Amino acid sequence: METVTQFASRILGIASPLGTGNRCWLCGGDCGDEARAQKDVIAPTFTQHNLAACEDSTVVCGGCEALTLASSWQGVVAARGMDIKVWTQAGWHSYSHFIAGPDVYECPKPSRVREILLSPPATKWLLGINESGKKHTVFRSAVNTGGQSWAVFAGDALVRTTTAEFATCLSAFEAMVAEGFSKASVVSGDYHPATMLKVGIAKARALDARVVPYRRMRPDLLGLVAYCAFGVAQFAEAAPEPAQPVKKSEVANYSADARGQMEMFL
Ligand SMILES: [Zn+2]
Repeated sequence: METVTQFASRILGIASPLGTGNRCWLCGGDCGDEARAQKDVIAPTFTQHNLAACEDSTVVCGGCEALTLASSWQGVVAARGMDIKVWTQAGWHSYSHFIAGPDVYECPKPSRVREILLSPPATKWLLGINESGKKHTVFRSAVNTGGQSWAVFAGDALVRTTTAEFATCLSAFEAMVAEGFSKASVVSGDYHPATMLKVGIAKARALDARVVPYRRMRPDLLGLVAYCAFGVAQFAEAAPEPAQPVKKSEVANYSADARGQMEMFL
């Protein structure tokens, strides 16, 4: 079986082909004839030991070695002539990664993540989203096989969904952002009264009703959508629709409950 790091390192050409041998401490894959001693590969600064798939193994595969070395990442960036900021300590933990067959590697920004997920590759691919710029994501990603169901690493876990579900959630989310609601407020359901007034209570409630199921049942997907959705500024250029007149007294009649769901008592 080809594990996620073995897939990534093969696409990027930074590890030897697989043979047969011991299982890798980190990814659990076959180390082949290229097994490295775990203690020689995994630096003391690598803290994500909880990710080890084969804890009793003492060896690491070439893919995992390559995917932990900053020099390996910097070599990939240089070899591909990528327009990416590189500094001494920059490595796999510094950026998001989009890796796809047969030879695709990008460090995508949120707008590019949006584009990728609305039309994911038909080939094998992985996407690890790194919001902090200080996180390894390739180990924690999954290799998708090119179908409409896929999983990407976002937040602190794999988000499993389908292209259609992602698009529906994104559409619901961006419909609110287009009206001027901040991304944070759409995630929480705690809307600013002034924006409610501007949009109109009934319209805002109808729009929020499309987001509520994700807020309740799929906060992981909503978080992914919030990361890559267009922001208020990207909708501001479009001419705003005239807001429906709303009495100020109506605005006071909604509140956010403990789940962040917008409740209105009109
Ligand atoms: Zn491995």
